[in-house]
Amino acid sequence: MFNEFLKNELDKLESQDLKRSLRQIKGSQGSTVIINDTEVLNFCSNNYLGLADDLRLADAANDCIRKQGIGAGASRLVCGNMSVHEELEKRIADFKGTKRCLVFATGYMANVGIISSLFNRDDMIFTDKLNHASIVDGIILSRANFKRYAHNDMESLEELLRANTGYKKKCIITDAIFSMDGDIAPLDKIVQLAQKYECLVMVDEAHSIGVMGKNGRGLVEHFGLEENIDIQMGTLSKAVGCFGAYVCGSKELIEFLINKARSFIYTTALPPAVAAAAMKSIDIISEEPQLRNHLWDSTNYLRAGLKLMGLDTMKSRTPICPVLIKDPKVTVEMSKRLLERNILVSAIRPPTVPQGAARLRLTTTAQHTEEDVNYVLDNIQEVAKDLCLI
Ligand code: PMP
Repeated sequence: MFNEFLKNELDKLESQDLKRSLRQIKGSQGSTVIINDTEVLNFCSNNYLGLADDLRLADAANDCIRKQGIGAGASRLVCGNMSVHEELEKRIADFKGTKRCLVFATGYMANVGIISSLFNRDDMIFTDKLNHASIVDGIILSRANFKRYAHNDMESLEELLRANTGYKKKCIITDAIFSMDGDIAPLDKIVQLAQKYECLVMVDEAHSIGVMGKNGRGLVEHFGLEENIDIQMGTLSKAVGCFGAYVCGSKELIEFLINKARSFIYTTALPPAVAAAAMKSIDIISEEPQLRNHLWDSTNYLRAGLKLMGLDTMKSRTPICPVLIKDPKVTVEMSKRLLERNILVSAIRPPTVPQGAARLRLTTTAQHTEEDVNYVLDNIQEVAKDLCLI
């Protein structure tokens, strides 16, 4: 009976070309990965700076494992608060130029914990329609009132701000770089509106930390808004190449979250070696701007090539470069044909993106060469022609 229910649901997904399955990768996360014993170019990871398999991070982790072991043994508030966690938090706070920082186990848990502890039924949250699922889930869990504004549309946001007054706290929450569209939040305008309507601002820098800003400190640095964002959240799992997440802000914010954020309190601390590797990664991000420069060169070259062949890269301006196809079946077929040509690009379908907006999501990294990008462009052109997309 139960299995029948499960099978029916899965069959439904299959019939809509929306069923997902796991694909096994062998070896490490690099510009190429091994799938079915074949080396393929990897154009869909969030490992923007190529640090996930950097041996300097591996050495930092190995050193730490030998001295401090594998597991943290308990939650931070019990006895899992190891020196390396606090060193990492200090390092991130210095890097971001904020008073304090708190590390969470994942970005998903950070968003859920931050939002659900800070806001409640007396509050109002204004959230971009394309914000990440973890922000959506945090809002639902908080039981706060919320209004979704049209994606990156400041008129839509202002209309909602004007119409919704009388709440105890109000907060605008936005992704910095949108994870499936690759466009950028107009953070300068968001801050202006927040000041005008007395709102807090929370920004999720998952895809912008290490990628944007002169020193790789993210979109807040890019706009020079260090003094104007109340809650700066980001992940250590993408450009930083590790695992875990952080929130930066005032001393009071961090002390509040240590006391109230359930996804911080009721979970085991990050493995110490991961924290050690993340610290090394932040050193590299600070000291090697050439990684970021190379990433942007590859990104701009790829996007220009895709546009030139007439594909729709939407409003992307970052290393996340969507190719809008719309039909999920054609999107999956394109991804499959590219894999046959040794290129790994994932097909993104609803509910990750809105209905009718299925797409390929290409991402470049600092490890990709011009030759890699040329190979991808040539093959995408051939496959897109075969599928009558261009
Ligand atoms: N926020 C955004 C914008 C993301 O894209 C992601 C990851 N896909 C997360 C949060 C969650 O981060 P993590 O993978 O570290 O849980």
